[in-house]
Amino acid sequence: MSQRQDPAASDYLHNTPDDAGFFGKHGGVFVPPALEGVMREVSRAYETISRSAEFISELRSIRKHFQGRPTPVYHAARLSRKLGASQIYLKREDLNHTGAHKINHCMAEGLLARFMGKKKIIAETGAGQHGVALATAAAYFGLECDIYMGEVDIAKQAPNVARMQILGTRVIPVKHGLKTLKEAVDSCLEAYMQDPVNQLYCIGSVVGPHPFPRMVRDFQHVVGAEARDQIIEMTGRLPEVVTACVGGGSNAMGMFSGFLADTGTELHGVEPLGRGPTPGEHSATLTYGSEGVIHGFRCYLLQDEQGNPAPVHSVASGLDYPGVGPEHCHLKDTGRVSYHTIDDEAAMEAFFLLSRHEGIIPAIESSHALANAIRLARTGERPRSILVNLSGRGDKDLDYVIANYGTGDRYVK
Ligand SMILES: *Cc1c(COP(=O)(O)O)cnc(C)c1O
Repeated sequence: MSQRQDPAASDYLHNTPDDAGFFGKHGGVFVPPALEGVMREVSRAYETISRSAEFISELRSIRKHFQGRPTPVYHAARLSRKLGASQIYLKREDLNHTGAHKINHCMAEGLLARFMGKKKIIAETGAGQHGVALATAAAYFGLECDIYMGEVDIAKQAPNVARMQILGTRVIPVKHGLKTLKEAVDSCLEAYMQDPVNQLYCIGSVVGPHPFPRMVRDFQHVVGAEARDQIIEMTGRLPEVVTACVGGGSNAMGMFSGFLADTGTELHGVEPLGRGPTPGEHSATLTYGSEGVIHGFRCYLLQDEQGNPAPVHSVASGLDYPGVGPEHCHLKDTGRVSYHTIDDEAAMEAFFLLSRHEGIIPAIESSHALANAIRLARTGERPRSILVNLSGRGDKDLDYVIANYGTGDRYVK
């Protein structure tokens, strides 16, 4: 029985999305005419470098020497024992340089920008995590970097704003509307249209117009490819369940893309249920959304009656986006991935359980995926092997956690 990467897996990655950027009925390019040609130019450049041996070898070298890849898979044996007979394994993306998976696509986007002869890379950021990862890539490649950030988020995320500035990035305050992530994306797209010649827009997840959802998935694929080899080496077989949290969906697509062809392995995406299923209290887009268009692509969307993106909430600021990557929408439609919800409270319990029992403080985003594994370990009728993508570390969340949840004694009895 061969457990090496199935050729069907690379076929899928090769042929999905179609040439127009559609994953089933989701995705595509819904941008002003001025940007259509720009997107084609990015597509062509990506096609070229993704086949270039030089690009592949430079990216490999960056991943190894600068980021610290491969990240390990870790058997959380003590936590597993607390919960029952199932075994939980963690893919340690928190051990990447800068503390999360986002650096995987930001370094590759930096390489693409250099290849295209761009002087500047630009992006939006919400909590500042994508901004810090891209600012890091800009410093590495000697590129200028502008990060668009809502004024409300700038006030809330002072340490990340300082990090970006220390790295030499300009943080541009966005002052319209709710002054948070959605407005930051609007402003960044506007700035991109002003000067697509000197700038490259480096989107923060598997969202936006084609080719971004494909490109970011391919750049994150290393997570799933490594994890598949590592868990087979560790346990002698494939896991029964692989689970990851879904904001825009990049860490989940990276992980799932390594296992799509392994039909005996269940894939679970985890969305934030926030304070509950009432509109405005959560950000569970695939679970409660309907078809719509946001930021240049078609997807399931949390929207009001007029089709405007609805307000969303999650305790994890990296998960509160009203849209979601088009490939996840397609994988929901085909049934290959099942999508589940975890509320703020269950995510915080997982945050404290992992900290106390394993000495690993996870990001609150990643705690959602972990909470799904904990739920399965507690309730499953048979013991299973569960692989969790631990997308990031929790250092960025400590002030917020202490102020709102204390040190967790209530959760860890
Ligand atoms: C940004 C972020 C996420 C959410 O983004 P995806 O594109 O859904 O992966 C998840 N975990 C961490 C640690 C993040 O920083």
